[in-house]
Amino acid sequence: MNFDLTNLVRINVQNLIPYSSARSENKKKEGIFLDANESPFESSFTSSSILNLELNRYPDPEQLELKKTLGKLKGLQTKNIFLGNGSDEAIDLLFRAFCNPGKDNVIICPPTYGMYEVSANINDVDVIKVPLTPETFQLNEQKILQAISTNTKLLFICCPNNPTGNGVKWQAIKQILDNFNGLVVVDEAYIDFASYRSLIPNLVKYPNLVILQTFSKAWGLAGIRLGAAFASKEIVEVLTKIKPPYNINAVSQKLALDALSLSEEVTKSTNILISERNKLKEVLERLPFVQKVYPSEANFLLVKMNDAKSVYDYLVVNKISVRNRSEVNLCEGCLRFTIGSEDENILLITHLKNYL
Ligand SMILES: *Cc1c(COP(=O)(O)O)cnc(C)c1O
Repeated sequence: MNFDLTNLVRINVQNLIPYSSARSENKKKEGIFLDANESPFESSFTSSSILNLELNRYPDPEQLELKKTLGKLKGLQTKNIFLGNGSDEAIDLLFRAFCNPGKDNVIICPPTYGMYEVSANINDVDVIKVPLTPETFQLNEQKILQAISTNTKLLFICCPNNPTGNGVKWQAIKQILDNFNGLVVVDEAYIDFASYRSLIPNLVKYPNLVILQTFSKAWGLAGIRLGAAFASKEIVEVLTKIKPPYNINAVSQKLALDALSLSEEVTKSTNILISERNKLKEVLERLPFVQKVYPSEANFLLVKMNDAKSVYDYLVVNKISVRNRSEVNLCEGCLRFTIGSEDENILLITHLKNYL
């Protein structure tokens, strides 16, 4: 492999002088702050005082405390952590840092998470699709390697994959990491529900690896919009250079820190969801109109059924929202069920048993 990050970064980003915020120039914790045109008056909203936050001040643009705490949990140094307003921001910034609009391309492996393609389209970047293998939803690594051109800058692998729920074999990912000079972005949004480990330990060996994780799923904090990209110091520096200075607001930083101090709670709720998932799978498999429940390493199940559209409509009438994936290539006839609480899952099953 001939990986060279400098050549991968867009020229305008290489030459960019980033915005320098008052708070990043002046890190003093003491004295008075007349440098950022903030209000001197602390907001009097009850919730900000409950959170013990000075919301009249800009948040830490480097999110250092949060990165340190997250780093301890993940076994990473702060220099290997980038935080985004959801992983969706990290995805968008990867495009903006590495893909020249109207010229470069990325590879995705559908069926997969929709934001990769949307972000590509927003940034006017071509998308090359190398579908997963039918039914087993594994990477077709030979076809992927053939599809790579000199203008291919990013390759997205979602593992466990959304909407299929399965993990992708490490051998295939490794082969791509070994043979691709662009960035391999492995999206681990659902890793906490999986039976296998994160690829984080491989960051040391692969300078072209970027791992995405999020607080939106197992952490139960989709509302605070916080995602992370783990990568080499150099890649993190590029993303940091182009991010909006205060991309993670003070409330989100504080709430994420609180959550990190209660990580055993998250382990507990994750284990409950895993056991609910396995229970729900068995019940679904016994329904006469269900053809197949795909194996899942995530907090959802992809289910193939005789008349997906009609089951979907029936559930909507009964005020149960599920995701209709029946028109998606390789997911024909499938609905995706997010695992809810025990009560919610019982309600879903009760309704499904009354279908027909
Ligand atoms: C839900 C999900 C995310 C989360 O995105 P956020 O912006 O962090 O909420 C990322 N990737 C995949 C594959 C997902 O399904």
